[in-house]
Amino acid sequence: MKLNATTDDILSADNHLIQSFCDLDALKQNTARTVINRAEGAFVYDSDGNELIDGIAGLWCVNVGHGRQELIDAVTQQLGQLDYYSTFYNFTHPSAAHLAQKIADLAPASLNHVYFANSGSAANDSAIRILHHYNERRGKPDKKRVLSRHGAYHGSTYLAMAMTTPAFSQTWSSASDLVHHLRSPHHWREGGGMTEAEFLDALMEDLEQSIAHLGADNIAAFIAEPIMGAGGVIVAPKGYHVRSAEICRANDIKYISDEVVTAFGRLGHFFASQEMFGVEPDIITSAKGLTSGYQPLSATIISDEIYEVISAPGEKFLHGFTYSGHPAASAVALANIEVMEREKLPEQVRTTGKQFESTLRDLGELDIVGEVRGSHFMMGIELVKDKATKVSFDDDVEIGGKVAEAAQKRGLIARPLGNSLILSPTLVMQPDLIEKTGDILRESITAVA
Ligand code: PLP
Repeated sequence: MKLNATTDDILSADNHLIQSFCDLDALKQNTARTVINRAEGAFVYDSDGNELIDGIAGLWCVNVGHGRQELIDAVTQQLGQLDYYSTFYNFTHPSAAHLAQKIADLAPASLNHVYFANSGSAANDSAIRILHHYNERRGKPDKKRVLSRHGAYHGSTYLAMAMTTPAFSQTWSSASDLVHHLRSPHHWREGGGMTEAEFLDALMEDLEQSIAHLGADNIAAFIAEPIMGAGGVIVAPKGYHVRSAEICRANDIKYISDEVVTAFGRLGHFFASQEMFGVEPDIITSAKGLTSGYQPLSATIISDEIYEVISAPGEKFLHGFTYSGHPAASAVALANIEVMEREKLPEQVRTTGKQFESTLRDLGELDIVGEVRGSHFMMGIELVKDKATKVSFDDDVEIGGKVAEAAQKRGLIARPLGNSLILSPTLVMQPDLIEKTGDILRESITAVA
């Protein structure tokens, strides 16, 4: 292991690494790359020893904070006992089984069956494959299409990418024809002068018209994040999810809640779809906070009703990933949930997350801040050239990147996303650090404006 290599050594080795969602040419020219070397609690440390507040929890992941010995021990103990076995055919192992049971206990009442994969993308792909299988078994082979939304992010495999907003994909996906994108539910940008209630009606009309146009008999699912994440942290108008779910139910369309980001405490609950938005989905997909990122793992949690159909005598379920329910990942997820329950982390977030939200909302008074949006520890800040007209900065100004750079110089990692910044820190942030994060953002935005 090369844990103590010099920055130059690491950057030289890094020339062989292809990063994600990045400007490969700029990286090739060796422009500013940050080597994250070490992490502890709410902080990470770069290879020059700078301490940085982890304002994005890695990538919406490290909910219980970095460096938890309990989680590290869970991995090593598990590997010592059983390093790997698959969950294919009739094989299982204790960690995967107990984790499935634990997730079923935490999830809404009718969601009692869990399919494990290794990423949020694979969890969403699995949800659709399960529903296709379910509909075939019900004698409805044409019921395959998926309703998603402009602004959504559901992953980077070809099927998940097809469900993601077209703005994120450069390549044609063979699954694109399966997916229809509904209007973005972003009132501030897309509301066109309507009140929020009028906008909600317009969104529901779009949903109903799309179903009528495509034919309910051809649609398997509607997929939605409770709050859109990578699309800019978009909170839909109040009542949106409940009304969407009602329309789906009336049309025999399954409602998939993509809780890859929103579950496991980020919004103050283990699962936000029901507890915060009042919807009992047919399927919930989750990842990230499930293990706090200590190991890659995702869960596709399905209802009893779907499970009964796919497990009835007949055709086999032909789907599987080598690492589904990997022992080390399952063990660390169990330890992670144990920490969250013991420390009452979701409950704590209902206080500290609200403080974080209100600290960031105060930045709305700055001249170039157009909208501060989100909830608890899931926040977005959109920067605008003209606040009154909401006119955006030109793309080549790269305003989000500039503010993020200014913040990093001041000791905070924030994620730029076009003209917006995303803040999704570890859930262990306490009031002093929340205040400091707000101060750094204020200084950074003011310095760049
Ligand atoms: N769904 C949502 C809401 C996400 O935010 C992401 C990733 O950020 C994914 C799915 C895809 O997860 P992964 O990158 O683990 O494939």
